Amino acid sequence: MSVTEEEPQGTIVERPIRLDYDYTAGTAQSRFLKGIAQGKILGEKCPVCGKVYVGSRGSCPTDGVATEGEIEVPSKGTLTTFCVVNVQFAGQSVEVPYASGYILCDGADIPLMGLVQEVPIEEVRMGLRVEAVWADELGPTLNSIKYWKPTGEPDADYETYRHHL
Ligand SMILES: [Zn+2]
Repeated sequence: MSVTEEEPQGTIVERPIRLDYDYTAGTAQSRFLKGIAQGKILGEKCPVCGKVYVGSRGSCPTDGVATEGEIEVPSKGTLTTFCVVNVQFAGQSVEVPYASGYILCDGADIPLMGLVQEVPIEEVRMGLRVEAVWADELGPTLNSIKYWKPTGEPDADYETYRHHL
């Protein structure tokens, strides 16, 4: 008997599942999320290498020292890389196809992840200059940024973000 003539060996059972969990943000992440709740993107700077981490964990992973200060970066930046999602899945809140990518806010060294909208999918590209579209009601969650849209500025030069891919 060939493989194609075999009877199925299993049964697929579809069941709803649910996973409840609590996230403890910690001190640095709490500062970041409180900033988001006020419509601000806050970074913290490493005193050794000078990198500005948005969504800082409170220390620099390269130098192992505590990050310092609160640095507000603009809610505007460069789309450094992205993917186009063409596959639907349960719980999806936007229609396919859509673009999801890394946005490097001006002055930051770590990108944020976000949706890119208000642009035809075929025009989404590396270097696209984008700005945040904030939700009507803000909270301590990245859902406060609904998505990122083009600013209309010329594309960023690759050299300005090549080390942040
Ligand atoms: Zn550092």
